[in-house]
Amino acid sequence: MIREEACPQCGGRPVREVVVRRESVVGRWKTEYEDRCCACDACGEEYYDVPQLKASLRTAADSVRAKVGLVSPERIRALRARYGLSQAQLERLLGIGSKMVVRWERGGVLPSLAASRLIEVLDDVPVAVFAKLAAKRGVVPKRDGRQEGAA
Ligand SMILES: [Zn+2]
Repeated sequence: MIREEACPQCGGRPVREVVVRRESVVGRWKTEYEDRCCACDACGEEYYDVPQLKASLRTAADSVRAKVGLVSPERIRALRARYGLSQAQLERLLGIGSKMVVRWERGGVLPSLAASRLIEVLDDVPVAVFAKLAAKRGVVPKRDGRQEGAA
C-alpha cells in the first residue's frame, strides 16, 4: 500500500506500508513475528508510525504469550469481572506490587509464568475455594463468581 506522506529521512516517495518479519526480545523471551511498517523506495529507510508501533508491540507481546503460555489481558479482566474484583484487590490476592495488574491488562507488561499459572488456578478453582483464598488475604469479592445462567 502506497502512503501519502514523503519519507521523513530523505523526503522521497513513494513510501509503502510493508509486512516485515521481526525478531525481538519481550521481557526475558525472544520472539519472531510479522508486523507492518513504512519503507521508503528512494532511500530504503524503514520506520513505524504510531499505530504501527502500538500494533507491533502488541503483536510481539501476543506471540510471546502464545509461545510461553502466559495469560492474556482478556483472561485477567474476565477473572476480575467474574468476582467483581478491583485491580488493587487482585494485586493483594496475588501478593504483587501495585499497578502490576493495570500494566498486564494494558498488554505492555507480561505477567511472569508463575503469575500466569496462579491466575489460571484462581480462574479454575470452585467458587467456595476462591472465596476462602480471597478472605485469607482480606479481599472481599463483590460478586459470588458464578456464571450468569449457571444453576
Ligand atoms: Zn527515504
